[in-house]
Amino acid sequence: MTNHCHAGFRRSIVLAMTDLGGPSLPQERRLVTAVPGPRSAALMERRNAVVARGIGTTLPVFVERAGGGVLVDVDGNSLIDFGSGIAVASVGNAADAVVARVQEQVARFTHTCFMVTPYDGYVEVCEALDRLTPGDHEKRSALFNSGAEAVENAVKIARAHTKRQAVVVFDHGYHGRTNLTMALTAKNMPYKHSFGPFAPEVYRVPMSYPFRDPAGMTGEQAAARALDLVEKQVGADNVACVVIEPIQGEGGFVVPAPGFLAALSQWCTDNGAVFVADEIQSGFARTGDWFACDHEGVVPDLVTTAKGIAGGLPLAAVTGRAEIMDAPHVGGLGGTYGGNPVACAAALGAIETMETLDLCGRARRIGEVMTARLVELASTYDVIGDVRGRGAMVAVELTRPGTLEPDAAATAAVAKACHADGLVVLTCGTHGNVLRLLPPLVMPEHLLDEGLGVLEKAFAGLA
Ligand SMILES: *Cc1c(COP(=O)(O)O)cnc(C)c1O
Repeated sequence: MTNHCHAGFRRSIVLAMTDLGGPSLPQERRLVTAVPGPRSAALMERRNAVVARGIGTTLPVFVERAGGGVLVDVDGNSLIDFGSGIAVASVGNAADAVVARVQEQVARFTHTCFMVTPYDGYVEVCEALDRLTPGDHEKRSALFNSGAEAVENAVKIARAHTKRQAVVVFDHGYHGRTNLTMALTAKNMPYKHSFGPFAPEVYRVPMSYPFRDPAGMTGEQAAARALDLVEKQVGADNVACVVIEPIQGEGGFVVPAPGFLAALSQWCTDNGAVFVADEIQSGFARTGDWFACDHEGVVPDLVTTAKGIAGGLPLAAVTGRAEIMDAPHVGGLGGTYGGNPVACAAALGAIETMETLDLCGRARRIGEVMTARLVELASTYDVIGDVRGRGAMVAVELTRPGTLEPDAAATAAVAKACHADGLVVLTCGTHGNVLRLLPPLVMPEHLLDEGLGVLEKAFAGLA
């Protein structure tokens, strides 16, 4: 055996083990009870007696193990996972490199508070963010626990840098559930209803939404529509930052027309505002590039990341131009747990996994497979109005045939049928009429195919 073949052989073993999320978890859909089964149902009763009503449940199935592309529940059912815990488990659950680094770190120390006595894992994560985020300018990062916290800090940093207050956000945008990020988030139910008053100086303008915009509207035209409102209603000189998801997540996987992001970014540069890309859902290999902005060569001033960054442990970051990031005074940013050492170890394991297994390439392949099948499905079922997305971030929008009228009922029915048949899918969209598919990037292709087959069956059952 040549060295070359030998290396290939070893690589394939690594791949197989990682695909399996540990060697002993079979990569299969297996239903041994109804979904949910009796053990999950019993746990659900205990849950409802002690967990606050405000915490929702998409699928009342209690998980016992997970890895690769499956979730195994307490009744022994093995479900295909097209949700990744909302775009978090991109490297698969309990990925080998994540487990190994977390175990090593958790046995050494669990917390010192980086602001009290630092440790190298935090620095190493910031070095990785410096290397992987768009642009080769000088950068700095700050680490936090959740996406919402990262977005709040991006706004704080932009305000400190510009000495301005206004924040511009978009229709259908989602940025979190804390007070400031509720104000930035578009959708009332369930995120904002009864929770006001909201933070001031937040202004919402139209998103580029090719499926719903006038036919032929370019990205530049959609940007002009939004920016004209900003100039007339807010005033360019008052804008601290424009905050946008380069591909929207909760709002319906809306992919703006080409040129939209670049025009917004250029306007920010011309007007002294900070362009913030919220890549919390679209980042870390999900769309087939490290970040969704990379696809169009857009270089944001600040990038917020979370979700896929740490293989399931809570970690978030703001990364951006050194001169903007360094605007707040010493001690002005932070938090007790931000950049926790165990979460940093997990992030380093997740990033290592993405690089070793070329998960950007896997995301592109998953996107090709899913899109081809879904486009075919759309030609059969006229309730599918649009198929869109990029890489392994793909959605179908359901409308009443021949119209733009959202069909949330059909969307819920398809999701419910998928769940009962052992496929975890999530819905999203301002009108709740979008099915979103976010498989772990390590999902074996046979499971991807089988999952799409389950989805097909669910559409057939609608009739
Ligand atoms: C999930 C999400 C957030 C909020 O992240 P949390 O960790 O839930 O606070 C912010 N922005 C985007 C784009 C998201 O998808």
